[in-house]
Amino acid sequence: MDDQGLYAALVQRGMTRRSFLKFSTAMAAALALPVSYAPRIAEAVATAKRLPVIWVRAQTCGGNTESFLRAADPSISTMLLETLSIEYHESLLASAGAGTELTRTEAMARYPEGYVAVIEGAIPEGASGAYCLVGGRPVRDVAREVCDGALATIAVGSCAFDGGIAAANNALTDAKGVRGVVGDGTLITLPGCPMNVVNLTSVIVHYLTFHEWPPLDQRNRPLSVYGNLIHNECERRPHFEFGEFALSWGDEGAQRGWCLYKLGCKGPESMGNCPTARYGAGVSWNVRAGHGCVGCVMPDFWDQMGPAYKRLPAPVPFLPNVTTDMVGAAMVVGVGAAAGVHALGMGVRFKRRARNERREALAAAEGVAVAEAVDALPPDEVTADAAGTAPEGAPVVTPVADVPDPATAEGDSPTGAEVR
Ligand code: SF4
Ligand code: SF4
Repeated sequence: MDDQGLYAALVQRGMTRRSFLKFSTAMAAALALPVSYAPRIAEAVATAKRLPVIWVRAQTCGGNTESFLRAADPSISTMLLETLSIEYHESLLASAGAGTELTRTEAMARYPEGYVAVIEGAIPEGASGAYCLVGGRPVRDVAREVCDGALATIAVGSCAFDGGIAAANNALTDAKGVRGVVGDGTLITLPGCPMNVVNLTSVIVHYLTFHEWPPLDQRNRPLSVYGNLIHNECERRPHFEFGEFALSWGDEGAQRGWCLYKLGCKGPESMGNCPTARYGAGVSWNVRAGHGCVGCVMPDFWDQMGPAYKRLPAPVPFLPNVTTDMVGAAMVVGVGAAAGVHALGMGVRFKRRARNERREALAAAEGVAVAEAVDALPPDEVTADAAGTAPEGAPVVTPVADVPDPATAEGDSPTGAEVR
């Protein structure tokens, strides 16, 4: 490893002091630290020795290598990462075959005090690991060897995190994340498809500054990177609050930068720093560019966060198998049923009231008491009536279907009384 400090190496590559301090401030922000930490970061990075890195590619498309190599022109992160001592990366080495294998094993032996293992891609366990071979050996075994001697393993990208796309839909290769090959060693995961190179940089800067790795969550993700909801930092969030949504790609709402939630944006369900770290040297990120978040940083994202252009049914707290859509449907059915029962009850009530009014009108017309009117009715129209006013056990009047309504009837009543 080169003995010069990182700052000297960066200056040699054309970095000014001003941009170096700017970088330190940006790193403090990426690590969710107060800006007052920037001088400490600058001092630590300036004097740090370069970290040796052994980068193993497993079952991967190579997107994380692309993210690493094509960060920007020339971004500070790129310069810092280039000054890492990349001892082995099969895509960057000029050698091939047995020479490449030798490079890796020699690098591991050269740094007995430790190096950083970076693993990109999933580890296929199916067919005894035969789906991904490095130098004729399952990559699982190669990765395990490299991780065993590492200060820490950084799993870059969603495939290294938990299998990612390689593990989607019960994949044939039985792809897994890197956790299974790390054993008891330190594991830091940086999910994302691909990971953001800013986050890899901030993890390394944290180690150089504080001589320890950043605080992690239960899935080994740095809290500084994955501790916030993307939705909360999104620049389209005010439109969400005002109910202003794009309803189709390219419509007026989309052109005016309105919220993409109704087009399937998963920002409300995804944890990450994409809106603040951004991609392409901090220029933009997908939601800013006009595409909804697909939740690529989340566990099992391909199966759990898709389809990309449909909203997710929101789970109900503490009831993981119940969604708010299901609750909504149940409420609609429940409210409909309650309204039906209410309408039925009101109908019965109105009918009963009309019947009683007709009965009283009939009794008044005949000049007899209600009880006498009951006596005048045929036996089949006299039944128990729970809502009636008769003494307990006494028969009371129930609906008299053929008694004309006094308000409309003309001529004689069925009993012969004239209705006025
Ligand atoms: S575009 Fe997505 S992340 Fe942004 S406010 Fe809308 S739903 Fe949230
Ligand atoms: S905004 Fe969403 S889709 Fe884009 S990188 Fe972040 S988590 Fe992945």
